Amino acid sequence: MKKTTKLSNACLAILGIIFFGMVIQANSQNYSVLRTRMVNEQLARRGIKSKPVLQTMQKVERHLFVPQSFVKAAYTDQALPIGEGQTISQPYIVAFMTEALNIQPSDRVLEIGTGSGYQAAILAELCKEVYTIEIIRKLGKRADSLLSTLNYKNIFVRIGDGYQGWPEGAPFDAIIVTCSPSQVPQPLQDQLKEGGRMIIPIGLENYQELVLLVKQNGKMEKKNTLPVRFVPMRDKKGKRY
Ligand code: SAH
Repeated sequence: MKKTTKLSNACLAILGIIFFGMVIQANSQNYSVLRTRMVNEQLARRGIKSKPVLQTMQKVERHLFVPQSFVKAAYTDQALPIGEGQTISQPYIVAFMTEALNIQPSDRVLEIGTGSGYQAAILAELCKEVYTIEIIRKLGKRADSLLSTLNYKNIFVRIGDGYQGWPEGAPFDAIIVTCSPSQVPQPLQDQLKEGGRMIIPIGLENYQELVLLVKQNGKMEKKNTLPVRFVPMRDKKGKRY
């Protein structure tokens, strides 16, 4: 090959790399604009007030947690499918539950229902450690590897039945349940610290109330917050709790 041809090939390759870099940068800027819109229109306007929660929702790249075919819808006002018949919650619900838990930087938080790993990432930005349990192996493994790629070192993913909680990690400052049982699981109540907060969708298979519980003097104080529809919490045989 002639020297000049070699040189022009090298130039073309460099230009290609620069162009590719520009496309990637432009894309991530577009996503950032979509996130700003999501934070303003779907969260702040509907009453989410916590600065740290709003900043975290602006920071975490939700489009990385949804399947390729739903990337374009990642910042819209809805829950989206993540495979295996499961869903990633609507951004407003993620923000609402996170704000309700009043997460502190020193908190250790338990999540039941890892799903895509998005809610775990949001929590991990705000607290010390997140322990998250997913019953569907494929989803748990996928979330675990994505969260490692994104360099979250304070998230621990376990495959198993979250109804039983994570006894060795207890007690927790906060517990978030993102699948729905008909009653509050006793093991989760036991694994909540005194003064700890739990948010959990309780009710029927197709309709639940998002309940906020606070443990005061060993008793659970309950407050209903929002009507919601989460996927069911199931045991290993597939039966709803
Ligand atoms: N928090 C998730 C959304 C999860 S959807 C996110 O941010 O993407 C609810 C998840 O709960 C599903 O993935 C479902 O498989 C899981 N799940 C259902 N029953 C469970 C159980 N008993 N223990 C742990 N996870 C469970």
